[in-house]
Amino acid sequence: MTRPATDQVWKWLAEVPDPEIPAISLVDLGIIRDVAWQGDTLTVTITPTYSGCPATSVIAMDVEAALRAHGIEKLELKRQLSPAWTTDWLTEQGRAKLEAYGIAPPQPAGGPSRCPQCQSTNLERISQFGSTPCKATWRCRDCLEPFDYFKCI
Ligand SMILES: [Zn+2]
Repeated sequence: MTRPATDQVWKWLAEVPDPEIPAISLVDLGIIRDVAWQGDTLTVTITPTYSGCPATSVIAMDVEAALRAHGIEKLELKRQLSPAWTTDWLTEQGRAKLEAYGIAPPQPAGGPSRCPQCQSTNLERISQFGSTPCKATWRCRDCLEPFDYFKCI
């Protein structure tokens, strides 16, 4: 059996969308921690965004389906809870994609830095909980558009 290079595997994983925010991939999200061959078994280490995230099992199934579709037969998914995922692991590309999609990327201060529509900083929080547990709903006081803020930390 041929073993695709891990670089190739990373490229495949970069095509797997996050189930909650399909605009970004699992690699953009920063939750794929490691890809390695152990003999003829491919090991993929995943750190969930937070332990109670309902998307975690979906993510594992999506990763498995994607790699099987590329001919990986022996696959082991490892779940690594420590160190815990933080929003710092989002790639620059992931942050840019989030904003282009209309979701304010996470900030260390715990709130969005600007409106993803008009870049205004005149913002207010509408709800702690948005369309998924990972998001809060904010609104821009200038363009009056509500938007999601990615708050999962
Ligand atoms: Zn705005």
